Amino acid sequence: MKMRTRFAPSPTGYMHIGNLRTALYCYLIAKHDHGDFILRIEDTDQQREVEGAIDLIYQVMEETGLHYDEGPDIDGGVGPYIQSQRLDIYHEYAQKLIDLGGAHYCFCEGELEGEDPCLHLSQQEIQDKLDAGISHVIRQTIPTTGTTSFDDEVYGHIEVENKTLNEGILIKSDGYPTYNFANVIDDHLMNISHVVRGNEYLSSTPKYNLIYKTFDWEIPTYIHLPPVNKDETHKLSKRNGDASYQDLKEKGYLKEAIINYIALLGWSPADEEILSLDDLIAQFNIEHISKSPAIFDIDKLNWMNGMYLREMPLNQFHELLLPYYHSITRKVDLLELSKVLQPRLEKLSDVEESIDFINQAHPFDASIYTHKKMKTNPENSLEALELVKERIADFDDFNNDEAMTEFFVNLAKEKELKNGRIMWPVRVALTNKSFTPGGAVEIAHILGKEETLRRLNIGLEKLKAENKE
Ligand code: GLU
Repeated sequence: MKMRTRFAPSPTGYMHIGNLRTALYCYLIAKHDHGDFILRIEDTDQQREVEGAIDLIYQVMEETGLHYDEGPDIDGGVGPYIQSQRLDIYHEYAQKLIDLGGAHYCFCEGELEGEDPCLHLSQQEIQDKLDAGISHVIRQTIPTTGTTSFDDEVYGHIEVENKTLNEGILIKSDGYPTYNFANVIDDHLMNISHVVRGNEYLSSTPKYNLIYKTFDWEIPTYIHLPPVNKDETHKLSKRNGDASYQDLKEKGYLKEAIINYIALLGWSPADEEILSLDDLIAQFNIEHISKSPAIFDIDKLNWMNGMYLREMPLNQFHELLLPYYHSITRKVDLLELSKVLQPRLEKLSDVEESIDFINQAHPFDASIYTHKKMKTNPENSLEALELVKERIADFDDFNNDEAMTEFFVNLAKEKELKNGRIMWPVRVALTNKSFTPGGAVEIAHILGKEETLRRLNIGLEKLKAENKE
């Protein structure tokens, strides 16, 4: 049988990280085996329906490269692929299940406690109630004896006593199926061979298997995935304000890094962790999926995103950054700026803060001139800046980082000082920041000679005034 997996999101208006991880694993498991990956929209909970939510699912799948072989817009002959368009199918199979003894009409109001009295209604009583238009649901009928077991690919052997399973609703009073029914009917009719989903469905799976058995259908292979937690005990959830795929994109993470990172949330590769989608397809294996909850570690994602940024050709990185440069009003060497940022940046949204000294330096703060390691303080910084001011007027090679480094180094040598004694005060005078992308040379290059001189002068004057006090 051909490997076929499905990603079955409910259209909730955002792509939760856990959901995207499920989509990715479904995709990788299918593609590793040259199988089919199917998208099915599970929109039977009409109250949760959000406008535009389905389009968002399409968009994320497209953007992340998780191309499905069949879905609402790609017919593979087993559609429709949107559950709300399959109501007739569910009704047909619910009736069959009733006929086979696997389900029954229930006219009770509210929650059931104990055995469902409707189990004992005669055929005539049922028909009379239906004819009278009494509101009803269809419930699963569960044997009171025996056990149901199955082997999950991740969680191993699961066995439960049937009497512990509740007779859940399969068709609601509004005629819509519940997940508990629709997933079985759809997975069977869509020839899904491997069901890959969150482990919150593990405990209900025996109930689903009872339905398969009643129909005498083949039970799929189950791959239940561990939850994605934000710490030891809390699950990641949008309700708690945790990140969705869109949030991460907005925060400036690359889709390649997001996909790479979430692939590791519950699966471990044999060695190298930086893996493209193609690498992941080649390497992904069910045996390395973990049972224990994965922890979403933002520091690791930052690190990984930085790795992706650094591996890009400079031009591509520069293109990516151009929109973030719109706030720059001064004429500066933007390519040099990108060159300086590339080895340092972890995520695109950090650009703003990194470049906030370009339009103008931060307000003067004498304390930044004091740097223990550089052995600088406001007094000796003033001397250094005076020296630089005196000599830099004759230096014109601002676009040549090597030449400018040599210029500063020579000044330090001449005065028998460590380089930092010259370079740190220059860096501070140009920015008034303790953390800058690049040092004195790169910043002077980016700002150009005129602005560099202007800021050196301002720094000098401020330091003079400060030192006098
Ligand atoms: N619609 C379900 C959800 O979003 C899908 C579960 C499954 O993959 O079967 O949780």
